Amino acid sequence: MRKTHLIKPVLGSDYPVISHGKGIYLYDKDGKQYIDGSSGAITCNIGHGVHEIAEAMWNQANHVSFVYRSQFTSEAAEQLAEKIAHYAPGDLNSVFFVNSGSEATETALKVAIQYFQEQGNLTKTKVVSRWTSYHGITLGALSMSGHKLRRHRFTSLLEDFPAAHPPYCYQCPLKDTYPGCGVKCADDLESSIQAIGPDQIAAFIAEPIIGASGGAIVPPDEYFKKIREICDRYNILLIADEVMTGMGRTGKMFAMEHWNVTPDIIAIGKGMSAGYTPMAATIVSDRIMNVIESGSKVVMSGHTFSANPQSAAVCLAVIDYMERNNLQENAESMGQYMINHLQRLQWKYPLIGDVRGKGLLCGVEFVKNPITREPFEITSKVTDRLLSICFDNGLLVYPAVGGVTGFSGDSILLSPPLNVTKEQITDIMDILDQSIGELTTQLI
Ligand code: PLP
Repeated sequence: MRKTHLIKPVLGSDYPVISHGKGIYLYDKDGKQYIDGSSGAITCNIGHGVHEIAEAMWNQANHVSFVYRSQFTSEAAEQLAEKIAHYAPGDLNSVFFVNSGSEATETALKVAIQYFQEQGNLTKTKVVSRWTSYHGITLGALSMSGHKLRRHRFTSLLEDFPAAHPPYCYQCPLKDTYPGCGVKCADDLESSIQAIGPDQIAAFIAEPIIGASGGAIVPPDEYFKKIREICDRYNILLIADEVMTGMGRTGKMFAMEHWNVTPDIIAIGKGMSAGYTPMAATIVSDRIMNVIESGSKVVMSGHTFSANPQSAAVCLAVIDYMERNNLQENAESMGQYMINHLQRLQWKYPLIGDVRGKGLLCGVEFVKNPITREPFEITSKVTDRLLSICFDNGLLVYPAVGGVTGFSGDSILLSPPLNVTKEQITDIMDILDQSIGELTTQLI
């Protein structure tokens, strides 16, 4: 008898089989209920089982599900591009569709390099990024990712793009304190540019709020203004990786709006389709597109499933649902409500070192010593243990490990669907409270 397997994230582990989902709840085949406190991987922004999305899928499938983008365009893809460009800041008016966040950041990398090539500049081929960052798992995206845990097996295949320190005030890599530091983590980008040589660098990429590798690390307010100035000074494009933060997650359509800074390229994914279908995009400024249009006229990237009409119809329905239900506003107010709750838990549990975030992208960092901020040893597996306790108690939270060394740090992301209610947040906090209590007992 042949034994076949679906390769799971952790081989040999038991994963419950999902039955169905409704709103912020998921149910497995044994009837157990889970609160989706992380929207999966910060993806399911409008909750599970929304009827209108299934209807949009059905309608589009009854017309046409797939066309190849080099042969046809579709009304759904055209309308979606228009809709996203309408929300995008400044002159970011052109949209290139891909299927994952990794493809979106990698396309951003290629577009940035191509922008300079089209002008006859062939040396600007590097992208500077930061440590404690994550931009995706494919080799180009991983080259930009300062997530050592995810890089280390493949370093021989990767470019050395991470160079600058992150704006991680709670565990400042420059051992300084805000605001006295003068935001020298931003100046660190300038030092990196000078060390590498500005004539070699096409772009700088950053997550507006650091997600998977740090747990909702929000930069100081001045940070991105300084970064924009530095990029302009050295003729370097600014790429905002909004794969996690975009599409309303932080209370604004794009997180860079919090600081009124306009990037040259934005990568989005995850919440764009709210998980109903794979879809992501790279949004590009007129400044860049004009150069390509008057040059080769071809953005040198693309995938078989790019601009898939079925996925585009889903994303349009997701955005329509967000607009009708004021989900950006709800993300802002419910996010504040959740932060207030988390701060109360911080008083109760000394292992909660920091609580942070914007909108419904909230992070909790756990430390061994809240005075010195000393992290737990990696062997303590604090994040894994908490995840597993929460899971058993019926709450899904997202691990954000890597920290300042790249191999340590214990943080979780709390990021329920953007239509979560106050009562549901209270339920999430009750389970989290109980789970951290159990973890504390285990650690004693
Ligand atoms: N960029 C950021 C900021 C992310 O958080 C992620 C995924 O977590 C990615 C890129 C990669 O997206 P995907 O997993 O869809 O390839």
